[in-house]
Amino acid sequence: MAKLIDGRVIAENVYVELRREIAELKSKGIAPGLAVVLVGDNPASRTYVRSKDKMCRALGLHSVKLELPVSTTQDELLARVQRLNRDPSIHGILVQSPAPKHIDEEAIVRALDPGKDVDGFHRENVAKLVIGDASGFVPCTPLGIQRLLIETKIDIDGAHVVIVGRSMIVGKPLALLLMQKNKNANATVTVVHSRSRDLEKITRSADILVAAIGQATFVKGAHVRDGATVIDVGINRLEDPASERGYRLVGDVAFDEVARKAAAITPVPGGVGPMTIAMLMSNTVKAARQSLPRSGALPATS
Ligand code: NDP
Repeated sequence: MAKLIDGRVIAENVYVELRREIAELKSKGIAPGLAVVLVGDNPASRTYVRSKDKMCRALGLHSVKLELPVSTTQDELLARVQRLNRDPSIHGILVQSPAPKHIDEEAIVRALDPGKDVDGFHRENVAKLVIGDASGFVPCTPLGIQRLLIETKIDIDGAHVVIVGRSMIVGKPLALLLMQKNKNANATVTVVHSRSRDLEKITRSADILVAAIGQATFVKGAHVRDGATVIDVGINRLEDPASERGYRLVGDVAFDEVARKAAAITPVPGGVGPMTIAMLMSNTVKAARQSLPRSGALPATS
C-alpha cells in the first residue's frame, strides 16, 4: 500500500516558517497584506475566499476580503484593482476565478501590479517562470506540488514527471517549474492532454504522475507504474445524499486501486488543496518581503 502524502501536515510546517518570517517583517514595520476579490456568488468560490481570509487572520496577516455583487462592471472591477495596486498596506491581490461571464478575466490580470500578483498569472510572472527568474510569482498549486515532493523527499532531479492536463493554472506552470535547472527540479517532463495518443502508455512511464484533469477517478491502476508517486490535483464534487453537505469531494485518481500500485499518493481532500492555500500565504509574505527597500531586505528563502 502506498505511503500517504499528507498535505495538511506539510502545510502546517510551512505555516511554522511563515509565522517566523511574518514576525520578522512586523519587527521592520511591515504587516504583509492580502486582498481577495470575489465577484458574484459562486458557492465554491465563496468557500475558497472565506478559507483564504481565515488563514490570513490565523497567521496574523492583514486581510481584506472584497465581496462584490454579480452586477459589478468590468470598469468598476478595474478601478478596485487599481486602488489595491496603489494601497501600500496590500502586498498581494487575488481576483477569485471564475468571474461572471461579462468580466474579461485576462484584462483584469493584466491590470494587476505584477509585484502583487500572488497567483502568478500576470504575463510578467509567467515570463519570469519561463526564464527561471526567482523574483517572480509561481502559481500556488504547482508551487505546492513541488513543495509536497520536496518535503516527502521524493527525488525530482532526473525523474520522469508526467502531467495530465495543460491548464495555465496547473499543468503548464508545473511543467515549467519542474524542468527548471535547479536541484529541486531538473525533471524530464511530459505533458499529456485530451488530444494525446497512447496516454496510458505515457502515464505508465512516469516516476511521478500528476493528475490535473477535472474528471473524477480518471486515473486508474492501469495508468500507473508500480512504485510511482501519484499527485492528485483534482477536486470533483460528487452528489452524495448520505453526506451532510449533499456531496463529497473526489480527486482525478481512483484512489484505492492506484494506492495499491503506487509508492506514494496524495489524498483528496487533504493533499494538494491545503498546499495551494499555504503557497498563497507564502507568496504574499514573499511579496511583502520584496516590497522592502533593498537596504532593509531580508535574505531570500526561496
Ligand atoms: P482545466 O479544465 O482548465 O484543464 C483540464 C485539463 O485536463 C486540460 O488540459 C484538458 O485537456 C485535460 N483533460 C480533460 N479531459 C482529458 C482526458 N480525457 N484525457 C486527457 N486529458 C484531459 O482544469 P484545471 O487545470 O483548472 O483543474 C484541473 C482539476 O484540478 C480540477 O478538478 C480542479 O478543480 C482541480 N484544481 C485543484 C486545485 C487544488 O488546489 N487542489 C487548484 C486548481 C485546480 P485539453 O487542454 O486538451 O482540453
